[in-house]
Amino acid sequence: MARVAVLIVAAGKGVRAGGGVPKQYAPVLGQPMLRRSILAFANLADTIVQVVIGDGQADRFAAAVRCLDVLPPVVGGAERQDSVRCGLEALESRAPEFVLIHDAARPLVSAAVIAGVVDALEKGAEAAVPLLPVADTLRKREGVRWITVPRAGLLRAQTPQGFRFSSILRAHRAHAGQNATDDMALAEIAGIAVVAVAGEETNIKVTNAEDFAVAEALLSARAGETRIGSGYDVHRFVAGDHVWLCGLKIPHDHALEGHSDADAGLHALTDAILGAIGEGDIGLHFPPTDERWRGAPSWKFLKHAADLLRAKGGKLTNCDVTIVCERPKVSPHRDAMRARIAEILEIDAARVSVKATTTEGMGFTGRREGLAAEAVVTVRVP
Ligand code: MG
Repeated sequence: MARVAVLIVAAGKGVRAGGGVPKQYAPVLGQPMLRRSILAFANLADTIVQVVIGDGQADRFAAAVRCLDVLPPVVGGAERQDSVRCGLEALESRAPEFVLIHDAARPLVSAAVIAGVVDALEKGAEAAVPLLPVADTLRKREGVRWITVPRAGLLRAQTPQGFRFSSILRAHRAHAGQNATDDMALAEIAGIAVVAVAGEETNIKVTNAEDFAVAEALLSARAGETRIGSGYDVHRFVAGDHVWLCGLKIPHDHALEGHSDADAGLHALTDAILGAIGEGDIGLHFPPTDERWRGAPSWKFLKHAADLLRAKGGKLTNCDVTIVCERPKVSPHRDAMRARIAEILEIDAARVSVKATTTEGMGFTGRREGLAAEAVVTVRVP
């Protein structure tokens, strides 16, 4: 049973200016806004994520959350309040202690804001909402005149808005049809005391084309971290007429021995990716004692590592594979190998390098007893 449920409201039908795609699925710096909003909660322990989507958006949703650990989506209602209630009802059987209700349109929410909300709930608050003061002078048109509205005491509410789950579910059931624009408003109607926590100016609600530009600029400025991983693998030559190398079947006067297809190039590369994200090694994920992987094509191992990287919101920047052997000759296959690796990793072939060297007749590779491969990757993770 997860302690915290994250409920993301993504049921809007509004499209990005000039886009034609519902706003929450429009890309923000290369990733759908909804995906970024979900990933903002990735480091919160013991959570489940429920997304409320619009009718007919299931395919877009599936594409946007690929490889992420989220519950099946629920379809929302006509107004935001209806959509939130649908999400809360779907979560009821999972009985979370707290729920954080968040707009998909706030992909920039920081770990600090999220932690502030959770912290207040853990300290006993029934509701906690990030609030910010109003800096601009407020004006209101009255007839032909402009009235200055005193801004002292005025605050802006952001999301995620956190609640004791049972309290906000009860409030939604008791006060349906209020058309509340956020859950804090409903909490107030229901008499739930709300604790204010610090919001952030950068936690913007992406609404129009200008907001997209601001969000992308903020994300670019927020440096993720670059990580490096390395991998090394060796397989022995045995009798046979072909080898698998970097995803290609290459005719040769020997084969490589191994539990899988013995593709040392892809094994080294898989280990390099796993190494960069601290996910152990290929043997941990695909034990050689497991019959399922007997004769398995190694692209499956590499794809699994790439999926794990994506699930962390990471991106592979480049990879460099070096094959160490006297034979077979690698250079005639180099471009096809790069293309195949790029295809498996779903990246541009310009980010993939395959090189080869001999050991001048020395050592086990020089004696043609086996073949070695090493790989280095750099990845970018949030
Ligand atoms: Mg191997």
